[in-house]
Amino acid sequence: MEGVADNVERWAVQARGLVQGVGFRPFVYRLATELGLAGWVRNDLLGAAIEVEGRVEALATFAQRLRAELPAPGYIDHWRQESCAPSGTRGFEVLASASAGEASAWILPDLATCDKCRRELFDPDDRRHGYPFLNCTHCGPRLTIIRELPYDRAGTTMASLMLCAACQREYDDPGDRRFHAQPTACPVCGPRLSVALETAVQALAAGQIVALKGLGGYHLACDARSEDAVARLRARKQREARPLAVMVRDLDAAQALAEVSAAEAELLTSPAAPIVLLVRRPAADLALGVAPGQPTVGLMLAYTPLHHLLLTAWDGPLVMTSGNLSDEPIAYEDADAAARLGPVADLVVSHDRPIERRCDDSVVRVWRDRLLPLRRSRGYAPLPIALDGPGDAVVLAVGAQQKNTFCLTRGGEAILSAHIGELENEPALASFETGIADFERLLQLRPEALAHDLHPDYLSTHYALHRAVADGLPLVGVQHHHAHLAACLADAQRTEPALGLCFDGTGWGPDGTVWGGEVLLGDLRGYERLAHLRPFRLAGGEAAVRQGWRVAVDLGAQAGVQLDAVALGVDEERLDLVEQMLAADLQCVPTTSCGRLFDAVAALIGLRSDSRYEGEAAVALEGVAAEGSAEAPFALARADGVWQIDWRPVVTWLLEQRAAGAGVDVLAGAFHAGLAGTAAELAGQLRAATGVNVVALSGGCWQNVRLLSETVDRLQATGFEVLTHQRVPPNDGGLSLGQAAVARARLAGE
Ligand SMILES: [Zn+2]
Ligand SMILES: [Zn+2]
Ligand SMILES: [Zn+2]
Repeated sequence: MEGVADNVERWAVQARGLVQGVGFRPFVYRLATELGLAGWVRNDLLGAAIEVEGRVEALATFAQRLRAELPAPGYIDHWRQESCAPSGTRGFEVLASASAGEASAWILPDLATCDKCRRELFDPDDRRHGYPFLNCTHCGPRLTIIRELPYDRAGTTMASLMLCAACQREYDDPGDRRFHAQPTACPVCGPRLSVALETAVQALAAGQIVALKGLGGYHLACDARSEDAVARLRARKQREARPLAVMVRDLDAAQALAEVSAAEAELLTSPAAPIVLLVRRPAADLALGVAPGQPTVGLMLAYTPLHHLLLTAWDGPLVMTSGNLSDEPIAYEDADAAARLGPVADLVVSHDRPIERRCDDSVVRVWRDRLLPLRRSRGYAPLPIALDGPGDAVVLAVGAQQKNTFCLTRGGEAILSAHIGELENEPALASFETGIADFERLLQLRPEALAHDLHPDYLSTHYALHRAVADGLPLVGVQHHHAHLAACLADAQRTEPALGLCFDGTGWGPDGTVWGGEVLLGDLRGYERLAHLRPFRLAGGEAAVRQGWRVAVDLGAQAGVQLDAVALGVDEERLDLVEQMLAADLQCVPTTSCGRLFDAVAALIGLRSDSRYEGEAAVALEGVAAEGSAEAPFALARADGVWQIDWRPVVTWLLEQRAAGAGVDVLAGAFHAGLAGTAAELAGQLRAATGVNVVALSGGCWQNVRLLSETVDRLQATGFEVLTHQRVPPNDGGLSLGQAAVARARLAGE
């Protein structure tokens, strides 16, 4: 018979994943103490190291419960344990981190208020009752308050606020939820609001616009039920029609406004608390001006204590849109906000916790119970994305021009910035440049190579070219749609060759034309263009991006049909002018853009002749598309070894059907089905020729879940393995990941 002592073991555990700055060590401490185990836990280079000693059964329970009960948002993706010699020590300790190498730890994203904090917020007996800045190790600001790593209070924007005795006790107690909660605060020692919340509620009730300082910047808020308030906000913000996000108090309030599936509910209530695009209920009490002409609405739940207090006092939905003008970056510094938002807002509600760096809200969609990111920012960035494939160089990939993000690689990780936006103005460029310098400093990374788009006029390209000279760094130019394909591969942690259906807005083609409806065969190193849309022309170049009818005129001309001005929804004079431009080939830019084809079809079927923001017509086309439509007849043609997706029969067919009285819903549905059908047929042809059975769907058009579903169904029905985006957006917001993956692979191959 064995003695008790023989049953004692000591395990050394290495846990990797999201385990730093999320209350992991106190959690381990409480669990070990509860099970009567001895040992210690500390953060290290890779995550957390634990040594734990006790009876074998208790150790097994510890290992099982630790992984099962780890509170969100923490997670463990790698667990290694080995036995070591028992030391006979008693008690369990939380040890300080070894400071060397701390900079390689992760920068955590900001996290929505957790349930425990929310209960305290509304508990009249709690000392933090009604306090708008409470947080704990499971929630609160991270990315937006960090000044230096390692992540401790002295390195945050809270450094100058001394903890009161009560907060200090919690901070020092390994058994407390606020053990080492760096931004912890209470009404005695923490930040304060500049304006009483009741004043903000009164302003909102009067239909006014309130600028509200949040986690990663200022929001502009107004009553989401008031057409007048929404119209005023749009006019002052210079945002004509692009949808505005709406914040509600809780899941019940969201369900009152929109249909919410279980997967959507999970995302809404997750620590990331993104804006989720949902199908709006017909009777929803929301101003139509929130998302004009769209069946969807972008909803998010209150995610800071301040939001919870405001939304509870207000008791209704609030427009909560980024505090900026038009396409400028979101305001996050108080002086800048006062200057830029002063003329927009009737009231500014600020506080004295500085925001170190801006971070916009994330926007996601749910497709087949899976996350489809549209904008990866607050709550997600800058969590690293595991990167497979060859290469280990530190690469800075500078992204595209629109929906810009940049990406730094470190070992097997890609670290993407939060959303930076359209690099089309000076403030946005400044945000991009300071963002890069900031991440390089925090992460102590010096790029060994720069990856960029081939477009010579992108400001991100300019930056890369200048920096390469200044720092003597090699440049890796990556074709736009190859970067999309690589982003989709990297997103899925795949490296083998795939057929990339890159259906996109626009990207620079090496032949000098504007690409955007491309089928590439490629891997991380290189690609071959196997097919593309039949080219058409953008009469007037950029002007055609917002005026799909201009494209429709060229489609009609190529298909041999005369379009009339009334059917296109434009006046005769403008139509004549564009016809003359096309006939003389004046200011006409050839393109294979899939996004522009959607715009043109919206004009052809009489749905929308133009777009008030890029993509409006395409979004409208998806919105009206009826289920179960026939397939509009595309044709496939082959010339010089390259396939062309010929849309001319579709143009003729759509016009005939329209003349015969078919509705826009049926025609839009047929266009989606037809494009999906021809894409699948083409993929089948290419599989026969190449033997490649993996298809990657990337590019802005795959934000369209109708097109996505129709295409994936057809591809899977014929045995394809289909890769879609789940970690970075299919649009240009994910491009920097693809650029980085390509650059690493190419550098490794040399
Ligand atoms: Zn909390
Ligand atoms: Zn305090
Ligand atoms: Zn693109």
